[in-house]
Amino acid sequence: MAVSRNKIEKNLAKIRANIADACRRIGRDPKGITIVAVTKAVDLPTVKNLLDAGLTELGENRVPQLISRAAELDAYIQRRRNPLAGPVRWHMIGHLQRNKVRGVLKATNFIHSLDSLRLAEELQERAEKMDLPPINVFLQVNCSQESQKYGCAVGAAVHLGELIATLPHLRLVGLMTMGPMSASPDKTRLSFTRLREIFEEMRSDKIGGDNFRHLSMGMSGDYTIAVEEGATILRIGTALFE
Ligand SMILES: *Cc1c(COP(=O)(O)O)cnc(C)c1O
Repeated sequence: MAVSRNKIEKNLAKIRANIADACRRIGRDPKGITIVAVTKAVDLPTVKNLLDAGLTELGENRVPQLISRAAELDAYIQRRRNPLAGPVRWHMIGHLQRNKVRGVLKATNFIHSLDSLRLAEELQERAEKMDLPPINVFLQVNCSQESQKYGCAVGAAVHLGELIATLPHLRLVGLMTMGPMSASPDKTRLSFTRLREIFEEMRSDKIGGDNFRHLSMGMSGDYTIAVEEGATILRIGTALFE
């Protein structure tokens, strides 16, 4: 799908207005909220339009596409004359297989989909071998407890987070969840509230220390609810491109 810069800017203005409204309702500062633009369904020229519209945090849910796009964009950024709004950072938001860890670590160090100790240990081992700085990871929790395959169980999250926080090459920066698919707003809110409660419990236990401060939740269909429930990172695709 190809989407013009003009259309992206219009959609972005609408999204930002909705975020500001949600923040006003509950007395939050919108500055504490970052939009990760999810690019899985759009073409490379559209990704460049996102950069021109000022969005530099980009998300992909498949490793091969993330790697190839990170490389293509690097070349584009080096040719560019005008400075960007910020450094371009890729976020791996989809399920990560252990055999893709090496590749993804070459292209990014923001991983939202860490959901098992085995995967954490693989990341730790690879990052150590590759002599990389700490990888920013979010523990993905299956808060909706529906048929979704990914994310650790709610009851396992605190303990798993505690173990992850001890791995020296990982930096546990927060929690991530996906709202339930096509659910009522009440059910969606419940999922987000649950993630926030786990987050608060972990913070009061000082798990992850000062680095642990993000809630990655909210997509095109539910980001205003996520903002009301404390999201600091919204992962938005469709709403930017429709
Ligand atoms: C696709 C995707 C998104 C964005 O979804 P939209 O509904 O297009 O905003 C967010 N998070 C994850 C993990 C995704 O796979």
